Amino acid sequence: MSTDNQDIDVRSDGYLSADGAAQLDAADPLAPMRAEFAIPTNGDGSDKVYLVGNSLGLQSRRTRAEVERELDRWAVLGADGHLEGESAWMPYHELLTDPMSLIVGGRPEEVVVMNTLTVNLHLQMISFYRPTPERHKILIEDHAFPSDHFAVESQIRQRGYDPATSLVTVAPRPGSDLLDPADVLSAIEAHGDELALVLLPGVQYYTGQVLPMVDITRAGHAVGAYVGFDLAHAAGNIPLDLHDWGVDFASWCTYKYLNSGPGGIAGFFVHNRHVADQSLPKFLGWWGTNKSTRFQMETEFDPIPTVESWQISNPPVLALAALRGSLETFDAAGGMTALRSKSERQVAYLDSALAHVLGDRVRSITPTAMGERGCQFALRIASADHPGKAVQAKLEESGVACDWRYPDVIRVAPVPLYNTFGDIWRFTQILDGILR
Ligand SMILES: *Cc1c(COP(=O)(O)O)cnc(C)c1O
Repeated sequence: MSTDNQDIDVRSDGYLSADGAAQLDAADPLAPMRAEFAIPTNGDGSDKVYLVGNSLGLQSRRTRAEVERELDRWAVLGADGHLEGESAWMPYHELLTDPMSLIVGGRPEEVVVMNTLTVNLHLQMISFYRPTPERHKILIEDHAFPSDHFAVESQIRQRGYDPATSLVTVAPRPGSDLLDPADVLSAIEAHGDELALVLLPGVQYYTGQVLPMVDITRAGHAVGAYVGFDLAHAAGNIPLDLHDWGVDFASWCTYKYLNSGPGGIAGFFVHNRHVADQSLPKFLGWWGTNKSTRFQMETEFDPIPTVESWQISNPPVLALAALRGSLETFDAAGGMTALRSKSERQVAYLDSALAHVLGDRVRSITPTAMGERGCQFALRIASADHPGKAVQAKLEESGVACDWRYPDVIRVAPVPLYNTFGDIWRFTQILDGILR
């Protein structure tokens, strides 16, 4: 990335116009990446302003190509495709290990792709939630994503404990939408040696707040708890360093910022200090046992000495292929560092454009400090004449793809892989028109 480009002050008034946005796009070294994606269109054929990559990322050409390649190989090879060729299906998931490790900052022996997010959280709680009468609590956030809440509650019940006493939550202070990181740390300390597990998001799905994962991990370990993260909104959005941060485990879906397609296969991380620990309980299946003897069909489980021992079934290769194509685009873009650098400029630009064009008619509840946010904005419409849900519907009618989150937030996320500064400017113009 050229320093010239880094030096452009995207907040300066000169860029707060359609021409200004076009100048920023012309100077953006990652701008060509957009051409790798299928951009959804309006009825008249024009591109939508797609700002909902936080919910479902767009399809890349490479994803289509990788999926088509495996469909073709299946058509031609049948069962021989399991063993033949560079992308033989039996070890296909191994092709994803390195590129996925780079996204989350894991070592290759710590990262595997399999299942879907909530399933992976369950499997990780089988290993890392081992309650005793003295230490049985799980700390989550108040108003966690419902699937996470359900998973945790059912795990507590499954082990014979009661969510009323074993599920503990940390909430924003009255009048605030955001968790105060100090409150999270003091809750961990307060539950102390009753705390078995801390399970929190890396990026909060509603507000877009980034939680201090390093501090939380340290605080959890200080009281003897395991610490896991749900990275649904973090993976592919912000740089992560799971290994160096000492996180015990993490899971993430790949259909949001990682563009693997609806229901795409999920990521799974276990820190390597636990990977070889055979005392950890696990649910087993044949994909976790020694690859060289797997097909001798013996019933003695011989765990693969990596996180792959958590695998259960042979994975869906078409879903793996879709993710493979997507991760190639991350590599082509220069990885998370380059993407985050553009993302920070886009976030700063949307901040300025909102302030300049919308003023106090729209309020972002997302943290303002760059270190506490990814690319998602959670916006509240401040005007009593314009209920937020109706505004979101009008945005959709006007060609802006964004989402509504109950009770009162419109989420928009400029994604550096395919969104332009022009998209951001157009969004503010369309929103201004709706609110006038
Ligand atoms: C998107 C999301 C999920 C979705 O779970 P699936 O198992 O992939 O259906 C779960 N938790 C959080 C925090 C999410 O953002």
